[in-house]
Amino acid sequence: MEIRFLGFGGAFDTHLVNSSAIVSHSGVRTLIDCGHSVFPFLKNSGAIHQIDQVVITHLHDDHVGSLSALAIYFSKVLGKGPLPVLCANPEFLEKVRLFFTLSLVNPKPYCNLLLLPEGRGDISAIDTKSLHMEGLHTFAFVFREQSSSIVYSGDLGQCDYLFAELNHLNLPDPVIFHEISYQPDSRGHTYFMDLEKWTRIYPVYGYHCDPDLNPDSNPIPLVAHSPEFLWSSVKSDLVG
Ligand SMILES: [Zn+2]
Repeated sequence: MEIRFLGFGGAFDTHLVNSSAIVSHSGVRTLIDCGHSVFPFLKNSGAIHQIDQVVITHLHDDHVGSLSALAIYFSKVLGKGPLPVLCANPEFLEKVRLFFTLSLVNPKPYCNLLLLPEGRGDISAIDTKSLHMEGLHTFAFVFREQSSSIVYSGDLGQCDYLFAELNHLNLPDPVIFHEISYQPDSRGHTYFMDLEKWTRIYPVYGYHCDPDLNPDSNPIPLVAHSPEFLWSSVKSDLVG
């Protein structure tokens, strides 16, 4: 199993690609999120050919802003049929359907909305509703194979909630990718110092931030500084 980030930027880091990653697990490649700068990256890098399905953490623009374009391109230009979009629960599936309906009128030819199987499948969701923004559906995702697992936080203002859930799951060799904020008073995102105690239990990497602004006081290693977690062309951009 492996994860490769296409981007690690936050909503307003317009010089960076929005936070998004492809996880390869059990022979399937899952794109996490497709914000407004992600479709151009997918197409220009060729990564668009490496996607089998999509999961969505939440419906903010920096996470779904180019999802409709991806669905059209995947189904019609690449001729792969409706894009499978795995939704974490029935309520969220209806929100995603509304999102696509507003954009595509009849989304059926372009995307296939599916429910993630409940329980401890290859991919499972942790419901973090209202922990990023009051009333907003948000999800973290857990990818699990026999001897390894990957956790992707989504946008989340209270990291302790996620880790309490993870403590119940007894995951094999988990690596946690958690959004971080540099602002101590950030409510919808997690201030990096709040993650520090969890780094004594889990390997934790931060994303959803501009690495050029990373304060020296941040103890959380950044995805941006970890080539092993970056899509190849992101890596060469950083080197070049
Ligand atoms: Zn958000």
